[in-house]
Amino acid sequence: MTPPLQAFNRGISELQKKPAAHARGIFKSDETCFYDAPVSPVVATLSYHKIGNPPSDGWLTWNYTSTEEFSAQLEWFQSRGWDFLSAEALLDALKGMGALSAKSILITFDDAYESLLENAVPVLKRFSAPAVVFAPTQFIGETNLFDHGVEPLERIADWKTLGALEDSGVSVESHGYSHRGFSALSQDEIEQELDFSRQAIRKNLGKDSRMFAFPYGDCGNDQTAVHSAISRAGYDVAFLYGGGVFEPGQTPAPLFLPRLAMGPSVDLDAMLLESPRV
Ligand SMILES: [Zn+2]
Repeated sequence: MTPPLQAFNRGISELQKKPAAHARGIFKSDETCFYDAPVSPVVATLSYHKIGNPPSDGWLTWNYTSTEEFSAQLEWFQSRGWDFLSAEALLDALKGMGALSAKSILITFDDAYESLLENAVPVLKRFSAPAVVFAPTQFIGETNLFDHGVEPLERIADWKTLGALEDSGVSVESHGYSHRGFSALSQDEIEQELDFSRQAIRKNLGKDSRMFAFPYGDCGNDQTAVHSAISRAGYDVAFLYGGGVFEPGQTPAPLFLPRLAMGPSVDLDAMLLESPRV
């Protein structure tokens, strides 16, 4: 769905926001720039929903990125020296283990559409790019009923397909249970969203999810309480929706991380130049 960016802004409101610096090699493609100081690695987390075209009885929305455009966007990053990053490598880097290259991208998909296996994985394989998919576990094997009337209804992957995505290098992580924004939930309900989804992934895929993505990017009204609940549930990081790049070594609140909202025809030059850096 269309991102409520205010949720992201709430998430980083107390943090210092700066435009992405030329000094870390994020330039317009026709610019020349020189490093004059060591820079710390920067990570851009790309947030997609659906790769491919809408179903025949559906309609086109901004959340659909064609396979051709998806491929062109990954090519854009690769040709400018960005390296593809795995979930595990990012988690290690956030814990101070393992080095990152100067510019890394983590590719993520929200809502776990079944079509990812057919449409996104071949492109990922071509780039040897790992990725992450955030699954709302109440809807596994069903449809995106939480989007009813806003987005076309599409199949959400079942556990077998999610297992195949895992085998293809797409790490299955939690997008909550019922796909509700946290602002509308009590603290007990928030804890259930975090726990139920993590338990379902554990039971069906035999893995402990360490990453969470807030549905709608909505991290709730009491960030301190949400932050504690996420840690208690066993997650290492939680992703917002929208925002800019971040520096793993200099991120004051590693649990709440920004993502670049990706869709068709995004202006990546402008997006990265204007990107707040958390
Ligand atoms: Zn979602």
